[in-house]
Amino acid sequence: MSTATISEIDDSASAVPATMKAVVVHGPEDYRLDTVDVPTPGAGELLLKVDAVGVCASDLKCYHGAAKFWGDENRPAWAERDRIAGHEFVGTVVSGDDAALAKRGVSLGDRIACEQIVPCWECRYCLMGAYWMCGPHDMFGFKGFDGAMAEYVLVPTRALTHPVSRDLAPHVAAFAEPLSCAMHAVERGNIKFDDVVVIAGAGPIGLGAIAGTRQKNPKLVIALDMSDDKLALATKAGADLVINITKEDAVAKVKELTDGYGADVYIEATGHPSAVSQGLNILRKLGTYVEYSVFGSNASVDWSIISDDKELNVLGAHLGPHCWPAAIKLLESGKLPMDEICTHQFPLDRFQEALDLVADSEGGSVKVSIVPSLTEATTSAAVHS
Ligand SMILES: [Zn+2]
Ligand SMILES: [Zn+2]
Repeated sequence: MSTATISEIDDSASAVPATMKAVVVHGPEDYRLDTVDVPTPGAGELLLKVDAVGVCASDLKCYHGAAKFWGDENRPAWAERDRIAGHEFVGTVVSGDDAALAKRGVSLGDRIACEQIVPCWECRYCLMGAYWMCGPHDMFGFKGFDGAMAEYVLVPTRALTHPVSRDLAPHVAAFAEPLSCAMHAVERGNIKFDDVVVIAGAGPIGLGAIAGTRQKNPKLVIALDMSDDKLALATKAGADLVINITKEDAVAKVKELTDGYGADVYIEATGHPSAVSQGLNILRKLGTYVEYSVFGSNASVDWSIISDDKELNVLGAHLGPHCWPAAIKLLESGKLPMDEICTHQFPLDRFQEALDLVADSEGGSVKVSIVPSLTEATTSAAVHS
């Protein structure tokens, strides 16, 4: 056995330094910009120079100490301290051995996205092909592996990667992660051409679900939100009709549009408990409810709507399995209003402002990203009202 040789991009402009800046999770509400060693790829691993990393609602929940991440009396902590945060990323391959490059079909200088879950490939779920439900479920930025709120990130051998065009702006390319998740929710809906599909929420996931539903081309795509600005974006992302639920009765309106029957498919992407009962009420009998959100509190609903009244299909959806190539293709097509969806980009050293902006529901942001190569924050004019 010969020792694997690591190839590296060697022009001086892209030479890999020994240390880098990284957003390190010291604990809830204690993320710091630290100087850490740049990881060295071992056999089968790649090193990426981070092009961009999105800030996700789950980053915020972790930052604010949610029990899902840090445990409570009912469950152990899952997130790890001293990890570099960030899971929605794309980067440029700057070093790795020939086997790693060949396995992933990439060359030095190519851009790739990584799925956020790093499956074990050994548990019952992985063995049955459901890698996205992996039991140990290591995740970049939370558990097992450092994330990409840094200048460089290591791609371990177990990670899943996808090529992304270098022609996309970095923050647009990094939207592949939330878009693949949203498109998985769409696929769970098993949408038919004659369907009326209602998507609740026009944040990053809801907009992705609208765009994905548009690709399935059903009879009618209806978006619900409380913000006219976001609903304007929903129209640009592919909604035929939008309803501001603070101004109109969405259930009555959808019934009116469907001869009193109700929607065929409802995709919930708000994370608000009231959107659950809204969905159960908006669906027709034998309709399909898809839940993508993570909730901050329990949803209380009349379960007899699911059984006795309507015999509904209620489906969960998690991550974006088998949707990454389609999501990347959709981004590369230029059909989506990405300049308006990606409202804010921050340099690494202003990560705290990025987190605070995502936390601020009045802040006018849709997708907030961190772009390490930036020195100043940039804001798109659209939506920001
Ligand atoms: Zn995310
Ligand atoms: Zn597994």
